[in-house]
Amino acid sequence: MLWRYAARAKPNSGGSMDITDMIKAVQKKLGVDVDGKAGTETWGAIFAALVKPTIAGKPPEEAIDKVDDRSEGNIATLLEEVRPMARALVQKAAANGIQIKVISATRTFAEQDALFAKGRTAPGSIVTNAKGGFSNHNFGLAFDVGVFEGKKYMPESPKYAAVGALGLELGLEWGGNWKTFADQPHFQLRPSWADDITEKAMLAELRDRVAAGTPVFA
Ligand SMILES: [Zn+2]
Repeated sequence: MLWRYAARAKPNSGGSMDITDMIKAVQKKLGVDVDGKAGTETWGAIFAALVKPTIAGKPPEEAIDKVDDRSEGNIATLLEEVRPMARALVQKAAANGIQIKVISATRTFAEQDALFAKGRTAPGSIVTNAKGGFSNHNFGLAFDVGVFEGKKYMPESPKYAAVGALGLELGLEWGGNWKTFADQPHFQLRPSWADDITEKAMLAELRDRVAAGTPVFA
């Protein structure tokens, strides 16, 4: 039955389709960014198409409920494109029995430099390899979460890996996957213009955009 294998080898031939291609086809049809990841933009568009176009006058994606006050204080420092993703991650974690809060988000270049100095020219241990302008935190694209058990903050917990998987499902990048400096509490949203370039090239472009005053995400 050789034809079966031939059909499998070509996902778009009509014989079968993988889940990423399926999500991409739906995204194309919905007119949203085609990246194969079903985040808040895609789910908002699906909700608008199948359920109702707006919620209290707002696009569904913007109507995602706010979360706890501490998280919201940090979420407010993120780019507007990233805010619903951070809220969605907090909500998805809660739905899976894990309490997280967004405990850190955007830092200025100067704040990043101060963090970089830790364990180098300042007391403490090294917490980052990024100087000012070399972290996604400096552009409103990244946030860090903390796992909580009741009121207790858990700096170490196997739950971080579970939250990582939920973030990846939403289309966020997860610091736990980094080879050189794995950072489990860290999540970031890559703009679609940076889909096929390295982290280094993306950060260079981000610095150029900030210097030129052009939008970071568009
Ligand atoms: Zn981080």
